[in-house]
Amino acid sequence: MTPMRTLYLDMNAFFASVEQQVQPRLRGRPVGITALDTGPHNNWAGGVVACSYEAKNAGVKGIISVREARQICPDMIFIQARHKLYARANQAIAREIDKIAEVERIRSIDELQIGLGGPTSDLNAALDLAHEIKRVMRENVGTYMRCSIGIGPNQLLAKMAGKLEKPDGLQWLAPENMPMRIAHLKPDDLPGISRGMMQRLQKSHIWGIEELYALDPRHARMIWRSVEGERFVRALQGENIPLIETSRGGYGQSKVLAPKYRSPEMAGRVGRWLTERAVSRMRRDGYCAGKFHLYISRFDQRAYQRSKTLTPSQDTRVFMNLFDRMSDSFIRDRTHATSIGINLTKIVNLKDRPGELFLPLKPGQANQNEKLSTLVDQLNRRYGQKVIQHGIQQEHLGFFDRG
Ligand SMILES: [Mg+2]
Repeated sequence: MTPMRTLYLDMNAFFASVEQQVQPRLRGRPVGITALDTGPHNNWAGGVVACSYEAKNAGVKGIISVREARQICPDMIFIQARHKLYARANQAIAREIDKIAEVERIRSIDELQIGLGGPTSDLNAALDLAHEIKRVMRENVGTYMRCSIGIGPNQLLAKMAGKLEKPDGLQWLAPENMPMRIAHLKPDDLPGISRGMMQRLQKSHIWGIEELYALDPRHARMIWRSVEGERFVRALQGENIPLIETSRGGYGQSKVLAPKYRSPEMAGRVGRWLTERAVSRMRRDGYCAGKFHLYISRFDQRAYQRSKTLTPSQDTRVFMNLFDRMSDSFIRDRTHATSIGINLTKIVNLKDRPGELFLPLKPGQANQNEKLSTLVDQLNRRYGQKVIQHGIQQEHLGFFDRG
């Protein structure tokens, strides 16, 4: 049996479950979490960003408007998202699990990754640990806090296994049950396969999971036009390949904008703030990005999208300048925005970055500006606030859109 290395924990209907845990009146009821304040006084404006299983069972699916959700499920209760509360719940869960296992990484507000090794690399021992985690969550965090757990020989397979069964799932994926166990899925159901990539796969006559699984990793590299394709297929086949990119393919941050931040200038400032946060997170992890994307949803329903390829960098100033250039015509258009997001992709490890003679850039080393950015991170972390920031920004606390 292939040794197991990762246990992936995905909270079920996390925001709504936290609300049901702390507000007993919501238990057993259809609950919708909204990004902004809604209700009759605001003419039920805004969107539902998460909902309880009761609401899902009533037919409320995906991210929809509050108005639509009320039509589908008239007795739905709407709660404005309380991001700090969910962040505290996330920390409480990590603390409890840390007592019995090794929390390797908190991957998002509702996903944790736990390292397996030694005795727990045995599948049966890993399954026992998963049951123990579920028990600790029930008894020490809250009976309404359920999770789906996936186990695998690497992060990709563990994450995929965690998505197979909801709520309260427990599944594993390994060469022993692949690809049959996921043969009912389509390639773009897998984390990391976008619709665009699906089209490229189809051009190469890869139509289903079984063909994707059987792909020669070197061929995958050509289809992806990057080493990521090779890494993805090797991980799918069960090799021990660490996951670099998140399911959205990089370091991304986005926000549903509160009304006071919807003007082009304010949205732009929020965008700069998101950019600084994402680059700082990436730098802390030791990576550089070779592509920068900007997405803005505007009131006139026209999406504003720009992206730019660059020499892989982890320098905040580089991305701030790119942000200013890419957002320039949005700001000149004078149309208000409802959400803004940025994404850093084509991620490479700083250690693997090749040098460039004319930049100057030494192979595998941060340059002067990147070192300066790291110093700013350290200062801001030490004082627990922004003592230094890169240009004009607008902090936008509260709900993080998960796209
Ligand atoms: Mg979840």
